[in-house]
Amino acid sequence: MSEEYKVKCIRCGACFSKEDVVYTCRKCGGLLDINYDYSGIDIERVVEAIGEGVWKYRVLLPFAEDIKPITIKEGNTPLYKCGRLAKSIGVDELWVKHEGMNPSGSFKDRGMTVGVTKAIELGVKGVACASTGNTSASLAIFAAKAGIPSYVLLPKGKVALGKVAQAMMHGAKVISLRGNFDDALRIVRVLCEEEKLYLLNSVNPYRLEGQKTIAFEIAEKLKWKVPDRVILPVGNAGNISAIFKGFLELKTVGITGSIPKMTGIQAEGAKPVVNAFKEGRGEIIPEDKPETIASAIRIGNPVNAAKALHAIRDSGGVAESVTDDEITKAQLELARQEGIGVEPASAASIAGLKKLVKMGEIEREEKIVCITTGHLLKDPERVIEICEAPKEVDADVDLIRKMVK
Ligand SMILES: *Cc1c(COP(=O)(O)O)cnc(C)c1O
Ligand SMILES: [Zn+2]
Repeated sequence: MSEEYKVKCIRCGACFSKEDVVYTCRKCGGLLDINYDYSGIDIERVVEAIGEGVWKYRVLLPFAEDIKPITIKEGNTPLYKCGRLAKSIGVDELWVKHEGMNPSGSFKDRGMTVGVTKAIELGVKGVACASTGNTSASLAIFAAKAGIPSYVLLPKGKVALGKVAQAMMHGAKVISLRGNFDDALRIVRVLCEEEKLYLLNSVNPYRLEGQKTIAFEIAEKLKWKVPDRVILPVGNAGNISAIFKGFLELKTVGITGSIPKMTGIQAEGAKPVVNAFKEGRGEIIPEDKPETIASAIRIGNPVNAAKALHAIRDSGGVAESVTDDEITKAQLELARQEGIGVEPASAASIAGLKKLVKMGEIEREEKIVCITTGHLLKDPERVIEICEAPKEVDADVDLIRKMVK
């Protein structure tokens, strides 16, 4: 259906053919975006679409009608109404969309189903990415499903255990790099130019096309009425850009009437987007030594910063940072008040909400959706650090009876 689209530079407007393997503009180095002819989109085919998950919205995806997607039934994640947490934070209506419920345990699956389907269409020999963990887990799974080799570069000793386990188990060639994520991305980008591997980091605009379906699902679950605000963690800044694009498309084709205030949360030790936002800059100043317990957003030079800053400003949103302690506290509250188990980075959205309410930036009456990006089980080591250890006892019922009083 949406075979007619352009791959267009957001900075200079240069267009590239869809057969072209290109990640950033060859003329100016700017980020690329997938542009559709929105006048040709049949609204009914979005609103009345049957099925579930990412491919339900194929009318707004960059493929021919008869495409055979590489899919593991990603998307269609739950949107929980969180009354207890809303009350304790001091807002009227809070929803949490738990992207940790995707098959691999993070939202990266939405981008990968589209990205790897595109890779197969292009006929590439293999796929590659740099990763703080979840991208590599997801890529390994989709490459396995597609039957092509995958190569992943991980910063040594800085990836949560569950994520490395997935990449290894699903057969990726895992390379442990002495360096941080930003080093890994720089190197894999060179590698992909030289080795004819297809790059599947979020600089690849096809990934964002899959991730924008988060916006479609939120709008649909809320009966095509968009919330006032969407809050999410920001690392490489692809997801916030993608979700904004999704909401913008719904408005452009005339399904919805407004766009939520896109609100990006970074960790205190890795907040180049927050700094750029607060200082009114359109470009970030990269940070050399990003540091936070939230490994998924431990990124000093986010590749999609320009798109993210547009998304935040054009929607009237904000960017704010939170400390590791605030992240941990929010992670525990989500788990214990709402039964939602998330990895640390995901809890940044809730920590950010709490901070912005306290600051008076968010009003009580707003209808808010927080995105929790990854599952608790991704990072079991962190759980052991922050929770009380189980008490060891002898097999004596009297002893145990005393303990449960
Ligand atoms: C990838 C990831 C993020 C960051 O998303 P970006 O698109 O890079 O901003 C946040 N949380 C989790 C769990 C992730 O896997
Ligand atoms: Zn350009």
